[in-house]
Amino acid sequence: ASTSYGFIGLGQMGQHMARHIYNKLEATDKLYVNDNVAAATQSFIKNVTDENPANKDALKPLNSLEEFVTSVDEPLDFIITMVPEGKHVKGVVSELVSHYQKNNVSGTKTTFLDSSTIDIPTSREVHEFVKKELPGADFIDTPVSGGVAGARKATLSFMLSRPNNESISADLRTLLNKMGANIFACGETHGAGLAAKLSNNYLLAVTNLAVADSFQLAKSFGLNLKDYAKLVSVSTGKCWAAVDNCPIPGAYPKENNLPADVKYEGGFISKLTRKDLVLATQSAEYANRFLYLGDVSKHWYDKACEREDLANRDLSVLYEWLGELEKD
Ligand code: NAD
Repeated sequence: ASTSYGFIGLGQMGQHMARHIYNKLEATDKLYVNDNVAAATQSFIKNVTDENPANKDALKPLNSLEEFVTSVDEPLDFIITMVPEGKHVKGVVSELVSHYQKNNVSGTKTTFLDSSTIDIPTSREVHEFVKKELPGADFIDTPVSGGVAGARKATLSFMLSRPNNESISADLRTLLNKMGANIFACGETHGAGLAAKLSNNYLLAVTNLAVADSFQLAKSFGLNLKDYAKLVSVSTGKCWAAVDNCPIPGAYPKENNLPADVKYEGGFISKLTRKDLVLATQSAEYANRFLYLGDVSKHWYDKACEREDLANRDLSVLYEWLGELEKD
């Protein structure tokens, strides 16, 4: 059977995710893509068809969200959104739903998948809206971890609101496997996928800050930081921020491609770490949970992100920055 896909948001992450779907289309499958920046859609089409002309006819760029409803023969099987924030997801999905209604097309068949990182209350609101306005259609939070590198290599981890693996349909699994390497069923209630994503990224934001502080402390004591990095990697302070994303230039071989070795360029930028920290704090409030390290961490990420050069570099740059900071 053929499957039809829609992909909205061809940015840093989306362009790679959509490229994998394109490259892995089956004979009669179709892929419709859109970005509200026309140049992003055009360059996506050019890049993927230059690289792999074989599936060219199955790929359709759409100029507007209305065309997701009016230029297809029947409702699409899946529409994936990969846009910056909750307000964009809400805007895109409510516009699509209103086009379904205006054109008197039943959207029953469509499963909306939102892989953006957004707050849980907005995601629940959109889920309820879809269930009410397009009975039978579904809206699932499917956020990802693995960053741009994971999107490029199709090794992303997907986190879904699903009670268990058996409840993930074969079609959905096939689709996610085109873009990623792991699929986690995080729980039955809508928002469970985002809950897992935000809980993890809260831990990342806090441990990254603690690693920056700890390495600066070691430096003040006059320790050799490359040796200290080795010691931490086999000691109780071991964590992703200290080892896999170690902030000390030259601590690991060049092949590890650590942002620290290229002046903290690329990687997972501080601005996005801050964004996820804020979303975790907001969503915790909604769940009646206070995050004890939330405010103190946010204070430091806010301060760092006031500087464009820090905001747009990998989060491990906080190590270097803390070393330059004057004591308050
Ligand atoms: P990005 O800003 O590079 O891309 C977002 C794209 O969405 C842009 O091309 C933008 O033009 C498009 N867009 C915005 N509003 C739209 C609309 N109404 N209709 C159509 N297109 C629209 O962002 P990104 O880095 O690709 O991240 C996307 C989402 O994934 C964010 O929520 C982010 O937090 C999350 N995320 C990012 C990473 C990462 O490492 N970059 C990792 C995991 C999750």
